[in-house]
Amino acid sequence: MARHKVLTLWKGEQLNEQDTKILRTPCSEAPVPFDAETKRAVRTLAEAFLERDDAVGLAAPQIGIGKRIIAFKVRNFEDKDPTTRKEDFEILVNPRITQKRGERVVGEEGCLSCPEIRVEISRYPEIKVRACNLDGKKVSKRYLDFAARVVQHEMDHLDGKLIVDYDGSVFIPKKSQSFFEKFFQNK
Ligand SMILES: [Zn+2]
Repeated sequence: MARHKVLTLWKGEQLNEQDTKILRTPCSEAPVPFDAETKRAVRTLAEAFLERDDAVGLAAPQIGIGKRIIAFKVRNFEDKDPTTRKEDFEILVNPRITQKRGERVVGEEGCLSCPEIRVEISRYPEIKVRACNLDGKKVSKRYLDFAARVVQHEMDHLDGKLIVDYDGSVFIPKKSQSFFEKFFQNK
């Protein structure tokens, strides 16, 4: 299966200006009921997510679709088997956080669009979300702990926000230290 290309802010030590522009653009709401374009976008994102075993979540803008759609695993985060993966993922369209609970918890996050680095980010350990599911039905969901972190991360993408925008400690590979130091100084 041909892999869907995931857009990245940089590749090696080269900034991707074109990709950055798309990743930084806030996404638009999908029409409800879904039109043909939205249905296609939902299918494409599901495919792109399921063909990878290196991501717990993927947001539409990461594959160049400017709509508010996210795909993510909700359990068995370590399991890379593509058959069970299918049962463990959810799609949300136009997600909106309606409640955040608990003290924020610091955790390390990576992102396919920000390769090779990790950033410490505080997230709420419990959130309630209203959205449409992949069939276009209205749903109200509650996510806890790591799943809540993943959903908050993916929802950031819909507003053009990325892990590099947070002020937590950054872990960068030694070999590209000067590239990343310059990147974080200029951001
Ligand atoms: Zn990400």
